[in-house]
Amino acid sequence: SLEQGPEGPETPIQVVLRVRPMSTTELRRGEQSALHCSGTRTLQVSPPGGGPDMAFRFGAVLDGASTQEDVFRVCGVKRLGELALRGFSCTIFTFGQTGSGKTYTLTGPPPQGEGVPVPASLAGIMQRTFIWLLDRVQHLGVPVTLRASYLEIYNEQVRDLLSLGTPRPLPVRWNKARGFYVEQLRVVEFGSLEALMELLQMGLSRRRSSSHTLNKASSRSHALLTLYVSRPAPQQVPPVDSGEAPVGGKLCFVDLAGSEKVAATGSQGQLMLEANSINRSLLALGHCISLLLDPQRKQSHIPFRDSKLTKLLADSLGGRGVTLMVACVSPSAQCLPETLSTLRYASRAQ
Ligand code: ADP
Ligand code: MG
Repeated sequence: SLEQGPEGPETPIQVVLRVRPMSTTELRRGEQSALHCSGTRTLQVSPPGGGPDMAFRFGAVLDGASTQEDVFRVCGVKRLGELALRGFSCTIFTFGQTGSGKTYTLTGPPPQGEGVPVPASLAGIMQRTFIWLLDRVQHLGVPVTLRASYLEIYNEQVRDLLSLGTPRPLPVRWNKARGFYVEQLRVVEFGSLEALMELLQMGLSRRRSSSHTLNKASSRSHALLTLYVSRPAPQQVPPVDSGEAPVGGKLCFVDLAGSEKVAATGSQGQLMLEANSINRSLLALGHCISLLLDPQRKQSHIPFRDSKLTKLLADSLGGRGVTLMVACVSPSAQCLPETLSTLRYASRAQ
């Protein structure tokens, strides 16, 4: 478990790999699995047709038998929650091709029908964190203000998933005290799990409905749900869209756009060429991460300004922050080209 800390020096980004089970469709088509976990940290890839096996090592590897509870525990999400309570900016993001289990990992399966509740055992990382955090805060013995925002980045435009009126694209601004922030983003105070789940459902349903009109927009957009935790300040807590520095930490859950064709990166020049046509944010994220991992990074400038996503994750990636990446893959040999791209992107991030 990452809760015990990784082996060796602390890396800027912790990476957990999750292999989802074969889907019924994949099984029906008789597709074979190309992936095997060996131990708790190594993934073995056996290309069909007998190419040489490849091995990838991560902070942790979870196979198709792992439960949602296993994922929550192994990812050390409570540790990130504790850091957020101490004022750090923490981010958990899921990365992988469409259909690899990103949304399932963060939010659980979609409801099976109108009014049919999803069993608690299938709840994703987000709901588990909400339950943990509200319980933790109740037992802290000091008042803590909890607030949430939920937005989507689509085609480099920020859309407020909690806005009361028709959502308009919102600008991302920067100032010295706060760093990057979304102007006029609705940030809602909540005091109970029910209230927070209602906000989550509101955002999810807006994402889902937009996916019909925008042609699968949800696989092409990034969704960011942020929890803001603030200890009482002597004066009033400044509203989040004022120019003042926020008091307290953040915990951000990011369901990234599908990584298909994006992770297969060649040179930086190629990255730049693809940037406009595919997904500038995912490419910029990979670029920022690789520079952050550069041992000479003290001197190098990190181009967080290259995309909306990297602007909004800058504090988690750079400054007082911790970032956890959950890379999601299908076991099917049919998906292997995309899976290898994901494995390489994820390997480079640690
Ligand atoms: P993504 O968000 O990466 O596009 P989804 O999370 O929507 O992928 O997963 C694709 C399908 O596979 C969904 O029907 C989802 O419920 C199912 N699924 C994903 N991961 C698992 C898992 N670990 N166990 C069972 N079903 C899963
Ligand atoms: Mg999804």
